[in-house]
Amino acid sequence: MPDLDLIIRGATLVTPDGEVQADLAIAGETIAAVGDAGPAREEIDARGLHIFPGVIDSHVHFNDPGRADWEGIDSGSRALAAGGGTTFFDMPLNAHPPTCDTRSFDEKMIVAEEKSVTDFALWGGLVPGNFDKLEQLARRGVIGFKAFMSNSGIDDFECVDNATLKAGMKICAQLGKLVAVHAESDAITSRLVAAALAKDNFSVRDYLNSRPIHAELEAIHRAIEMSRETKCALHIVHVSSGAGVALIASAQSQGVDVTAETCPHYLAMTEDDVVKIGALAKCAPPLRPKSAQDVLWRYLENGFVKTIGSDHSPSPPDMKSNYNFFKVWGGISGVQHTLPLMLTEGRVNRGIATSVIANLLSVNVAERFKIPQKGKIAVGFDADLALVDLKQTFAVAKEDLLYRHQQSPYVGRALTGRIVQTILRGRTIFKDGKITATGGGKLITPSK
Ligand SMILES: [Zn+2]
Repeated sequence: MPDLDLIIRGATLVTPDGEVQADLAIAGETIAAVGDAGPAREEIDARGLHIFPGVIDSHVHFNDPGRADWEGIDSGSRALAAGGGTTFFDMPLNAHPPTCDTRSFDEKMIVAEEKSVTDFALWGGLVPGNFDKLEQLARRGVIGFKAFMSNSGIDDFECVDNATLKAGMKICAQLGKLVAVHAESDAITSRLVAAALAKDNFSVRDYLNSRPIHAELEAIHRAIEMSRETKCALHIVHVSSGAGVALIASAQSQGVDVTAETCPHYLAMTEDDVVKIGALAKCAPPLRPKSAQDVLWRYLENGFVKTIGSDHSPSPPDMKSNYNFFKVWGGISGVQHTLPLMLTEGRVNRGIATSVIANLLSVNVAERFKIPQKGKIAVGFDADLALVDLKQTFAVAKEDLLYRHQQSPYVGRALTGRIVQTILRGRTIFKDGKITATGGGKLITPSK
């Protein structure tokens, strides 16, 4: 047994096989033992708490560098840590310049290494005109490539047409890299948006009607066919409806390497909430009717959703305010509450096992994105941990939000499962409501 730095005693550990009551010993940055061990330099009495693997949020937009006034890696990673998160994957589009070549990758990495309190990985962009940059980005260690099948909302991150996406996926397949797509049909949505605006219809309901579920299904279907043909691993991000997951599940059964991500907001809110809450609950694809949400939960419970990412996508408050709902920035701030939301909506309200939630937020993410050292509470893994009190219920309060702009559609909502402490590679980064680290995060690259 190596020299032990930390023993956490008496907690319930959430492992992929279920809950286990055992002590947890840490040496340096990794888990050294599960079960009886000791002594160590430091001990934590964690009786009554559950320990989850640290959340790996594979989908955030921290807007750094270039648009740090929207969020920034500093505040974004702190909010993640306060929510039990230990690693994020930052999307390529909201930084300026977007992460579509090695220079922009290096610029973002420098900022993240300086400011992030959690570990991080970087997505590369797959956009028209950057095919010659993909190989170098792959060598730098991007976690995968992200493409938009409809307007991204960011002028310098163009969406791809069919030919571009297919050709890009061919290259990514050769590079052994996964492609993630925002799947909404541009043809369908832009026609409906134009028709609504031509009649001066710009209410919340008009916006919802302009992005129907069938626009998402059409794009998912197309992307799946390209994955089948190119053999490129495909991850459909922010699937908003059960019908979307059904398409993916059916392709999987035919051997296509495709997986589904959904987000807490599709599971915790419905379109009635956008009508009630307004701009803070605007996203694309939009929140769906309760009937579609019920089916999404059913597919999740049956194991067809692979990962859950927050799709944290904030903006300055003035971009969240417009009489024309089409002009409001689409993006939900949620990175701080993924785990408590899933514990409340999944465990408390639907009886879903803690291990299933840990799989969606950590284990499966590490597996899908080939990060063998993270995601699990097991000997030899990074000691990335979230200590959670499942008995505590709290109301989300504006003043507790660590975002640059204290906005969230969840303010006022009661959540069960308070994050007590977050540990990154053996070091405490959040405890009792306070961030205890400055910087310290490192770049994570996928294994070959
Ligand atoms: Zn996103």
